[in-house]
Amino acid sequence: MAVRIKIKGIVQGVGFRPFVYRTAKKLGIKGFVCNTTDGVVIEAEGEGEALDIFKKQIIDKAPPVAEITCVEISYKESEGFDDFYIKESKEDKEREPIIPPDMSLCEECERELFDPKDRRFLYPFITCVNCGPRFTIIEAFPYDRENTTMKKFKMCPQCKEEYEDPLSRRFHTQPIGCYRCGPEVWLSDREGNKLETGIRAIDRVSELIERGYIIGVKGIGGFHLVCDATREEAVSKLRERKKRKEKPFAVMFRDLEQLKEYLKPSEEEIRELTSCIRPIVLIEKKKDLAPSVAPGLRRIGAFLPYSPLHLLILKRVKNPVIATSGNISGEPIVRDNGEAIYKLRDIADFFLLHNRDIRRRCDDSVIKLVGGTPTPIRRSRGFVPRPVKIGMKVKRKVLGVGGMLKNTFAFNIGDKVIISQHIGDIENTETLNFFEDAVRDLTGLYGFKPDLIVCDLHPLYETTKWAEEKAKELNIPLIKLQHHHAHILSCMAEKGIRERVLGIAWDGTGYGTDGSVWGGEFLLCDLLSFERIFHLKPFPLMGGDRAVKEPLRVVLSLIFEMYGEEGINILRNKGFEFDESFAFNLFKIWKRKTFPLTSSAGRLIDAVGFILGIKDSNTYEGQIAVMMEDLYDPLERGEYPFEIRGKEIDWRDMIDALLKERDKRKGVSRFINTLVNIGVKVGEMVGEEKICLSGGVMQNDPLVTNLKEKLEERGFKVFTQTLAPPNDGGLSLGQVYYGLNQ
Ligand code: ZN
Ligand code: ZN
Ligand code: FE
Repeated sequence: MAVRIKIKGIVQGVGFRPFVYRTAKKLGIKGFVCNTTDGVVIEAEGEGEALDIFKKQIIDKAPPVAEITCVEISYKESEGFDDFYIKESKEDKEREPIIPPDMSLCEECERELFDPKDRRFLYPFITCVNCGPRFTIIEAFPYDRENTTMKKFKMCPQCKEEYEDPLSRRFHTQPIGCYRCGPEVWLSDREGNKLETGIRAIDRVSELIERGYIIGVKGIGGFHLVCDATREEAVSKLRERKKRKEKPFAVMFRDLEQLKEYLKPSEEEIRELTSCIRPIVLIEKKKDLAPSVAPGLRRIGAFLPYSPLHLLILKRVKNPVIATSGNISGEPIVRDNGEAIYKLRDIADFFLLHNRDIRRRCDDSVIKLVGGTPTPIRRSRGFVPRPVKIGMKVKRKVLGVGGMLKNTFAFNIGDKVIISQHIGDIENTETLNFFEDAVRDLTGLYGFKPDLIVCDLHPLYETTKWAEEKAKELNIPLIKLQHHHAHILSCMAEKGIRERVLGIAWDGTGYGTDGSVWGGEFLLCDLLSFERIFHLKPFPLMGGDRAVKEPLRVVLSLIFEMYGEEGINILRNKGFEFDESFAFNLFKIWKRKTFPLTSSAGRLIDAVGFILGIKDSNTYEGQIAVMMEDLYDPLERGEYPFEIRGKEIDWRDMIDALLKERDKRKGVSRFINTLVNIGVKVGEMVGEEKICLSGGVMQNDPLVTNLKEKLEERGFKVFTQTLAPPNDGGLSLGQVYYGLNQ
């Protein structure tokens, strides 16, 4: 019997062909496998039964990083092949660059890692065709050893044999190595002196962690700062040295068993935790770690060891460890040994270094279950540079530079959009440099030259300024796209939506077409334009960025809008404690009406958090919002009144009711229910069948869960983001989608 099997999806550059080859050889199947422009084609001949097993195994046992989207099988005449081949095709040379993402340690390598008889027993860089670093070590295309940071290691005869044997799990594994020929690890003090090497270095590191020290550990996409997550003095020392007040730290657990001791992961969360991406997943606590791991939060950012080095450390440490990005606050993650010792010497007591260079930074990815769906909060290691397919005929080459906070940029190779790794908040030179380097690096890798650039409408974003200069330099057009339109387009892009939708875009800040700060928007969107049909009633944003950190400013602004100066007395009589002279001063300035107006949902949420006594300041972005989310009670059905007047959603009655609320939990739940109700009301008024939810506020699980449910009950089709982040990390995808439709 003979069959022709066509497989589409992410099957190239992930070791799929050698896998098919090995499977065929094992089963005595003859024929060939080759790459084509849109997938992999296999011709297979053999006994009926063997052929059936073959067909099943190549799908069921495919490499973990492969994503099969479509399989077509057709029967054909036998051609009498005498063996099985990996056929080189002309597409191999012409095809688009395919750069695989970094993959977590696979099961087979893990088994060998702890097998005393294996020649890579306890070797911290064990890897195979299904696992190990990729994106972070590639220097140029094509992806060959010579084009990776592994080129300086000359393979020993044994590794070379595995590398060249199509039957080996390590056939063409570019980062292959062993004790004899591969990278090595060592322990260093703050001055860069080597103290110990190999497994003894890892033993020492584990000891040091248990004794309460902070270690800078070089990983896959950069450094982590690691310490015992159950020792309060170690964790608070890390906070102090890193100058990081309350922003939660991620915790790495040895295995699922240890994780379940401390947290309550759902089935879905376990699936994410153990996927070959191994992201940080936000999971509810069961038992306490050190109090300052995630102050005031119900959920912990948890992950499992994803490299052999991490696993070796964790196996030797009794407790779970903090593994937070090794950087100076606000700067990009540190990548090189020298840079680590220079920049992190005041934070880490010791360093665990190695000599496999990291070519490009890549932070850990973060996933949260929102509305029951795994949602990327940060899409970086393991995802990048996997493309998002947008399924349309494409002529243009578009670069979208993203926003300012949580920046990513994106560009298209045909109908595939490559979204960059997480760059960060572009608020200092270091991050701006990282952005510029990363654009040059990634577009260079893919040989991409834009014929159009799309940036945000905000005139003061560094990315806008960069885009203006770049477009001038390349003499190509530049389009400035409204922030919330980009959010909704990002959702439309990943779902392949081309028709008109109602977009509900709620976030902290985005520059509006009228020059005011938007953020509580209902937009009727199509691919090329939008109409702002409803929005939250605007209020003055007093103190600009300071209003983000000090929600009292927003509370006063709302109160002045409602009661004028009298509002200060009302607040006092309700029992609020605040600096009254500050309030009266602010009122004087408020009267001059010189502040920009905002319709920001994010600010409104902060103000409500303040009013309910949840917290009086944001020490990191979104802090109050997350704390409120944790208090939500799904059994609370109550809600507050609001009014829709013209295009404005008037929150005054709601704030009035909130000022009387004494029960935090009830207040938070009723407030979120009110936001849901606003969304549903507007949805019904507009009547557009498809509704897209995006913007940072759409990371709020109870809000999205209820809004989605209520809208779907009424027959609407609701779309949330699952491939790109709903926060500003997803803007670049929306920008590229917009550009491609020009
Ligand atoms: Zn492996
Ligand atoms: Zn070797
Ligand atoms: Fe935004």
